[in-house]
Amino acid sequence: MSGNKRILMGAGRPALSNDVLGSTQTVIHEALERLGYGESYYELLKEPLRLLTVRIPVRMDDGQVKVFTGYRAQHTDAVGPTKGGIRFHPNVTAEEVSALSLWMTLKCGIFDLPYGGGKGGIICDPRTMSLGEVERLARGYVRAISQIVGPNKDIPAPDVYTNAQIMAWMLDEYGIIREHDSPGFITGKPIVLGGSQGREKATSLGVAISIREAAAAQGMAIKGLRVCIQGFGNVGSHLAEILDQWGAVVVGISDVHGGIYDEKGLDIPYLLDRRDSFGSVTNLFSKRLSNAEFLTQSCDVLVPAALENQITMENVDSIRAKMIVEAANGPTSMEASEKLHEQGVLVVPDVLANAGGVTVSYFEWVQNNQGYYWPEEEVNTKLESKMVEAVQKVLSMAKSRNITPRLAAYMVGVQKYAEASRIRGWV
Ligand code: GLU
Repeated sequence: MSGNKRILMGAGRPALSNDVLGSTQTVIHEALERLGYGESYYELLKEPLRLLTVRIPVRMDDGQVKVFTGYRAQHTDAVGPTKGGIRFHPNVTAEEVSALSLWMTLKCGIFDLPYGGGKGGIICDPRTMSLGEVERLARGYVRAISQIVGPNKDIPAPDVYTNAQIMAWMLDEYGIIREHDSPGFITGKPIVLGGSQGREKATSLGVAISIREAAAAQGMAIKGLRVCIQGFGNVGSHLAEILDQWGAVVVGISDVHGGIYDEKGLDIPYLLDRRDSFGSVTNLFSKRLSNAEFLTQSCDVLVPAALENQITMENVDSIRAKMIVEAANGPTSMEASEKLHEQGVLVVPDVLANAGGVTVSYFEWVQNNQGYYWPEEEVNTKLESKMVEAVQKVLSMAKSRNITPRLAAYMVGVQKYAEASRIRGWV
């Protein structure tokens, strides 16, 4: 960018911090600075434009009413509606949802999707709730946020501990409120309600393509690549399946109960067959590694596919993987990620590696808008070309500018929003 009047180097840089929002802001700041966008751009883009807090009363099965707290953050609508998942988790906070909405913007920017980032969350533990309680909570949340969402406003999707069934209840509730069916309101829906072929496995397929492309850039083939996957939920389990089919050797998997590891490779079809709907399977094994031990096992690629802050300055020195591919959002702290980079470990950042999900969500929304649906092969081919292009673009930029792939990804991701904000006259 040549508009040097907008350049304002160095001022107001937030301190490097371990918290997710703070550390994301630090990298966004640096990305904008390197692109030549000044401090006013950072002021605009450092937080969501909108953050709604809602309280949702739900009648529980025992007859009592429990009030849950939820959030919906909309980072920027400079290029179109906002987009991003809804997570149900006990550790959800306003700050986390805000950071996640910034990451959604970056993903949409890197993959050139016509959206800005959004994110929602409800503080709850669905593992301790009945299906009926989860349904009432999901419907209550849609009623509470209905004024700020919609197919051309803000389009939700699944995230941690939410799935196609929950999207179906939310879609149904939205249809009741608006008095017409509106499949483009939400993505990650069941196919029968307008969901896309390939959406369920899209994040995992995107991660698998990222692993394959990043390994190739390092001179390693996917066949025989030894991979450890932390987390065996929707993303981790489908990833294990795809990698196993591609001839990689999945040597370790873990879930909430711990990890299992076998350097000769695990029997993935057996494990998939035995996992429960929350992704637990290692409880069937008497010999399990703790989460901390699991992360330090020897492998070519470590894929954190669970929650945030798994690799930090506390355990970074014990990591033995040659490459880390972030399937979860924010699994590596910024400091740890920089340290790994200095040690020659390639860290493929979340906003690049796991954006297959939102990319196919975009395909789903396009199909809903046109009312014409594509076969799975077409969806996967479109995803493949977008993933390969994005991974190659970010990795080659990181190499040519001698910066981390994360900073390169942030630079690619944020540019469209800075530019659109400028043209709209917001900055
Ligand atoms: N929750 C997913 C993510 O973090 C998907 C979002 C979407 O499909 O909109 O990328």
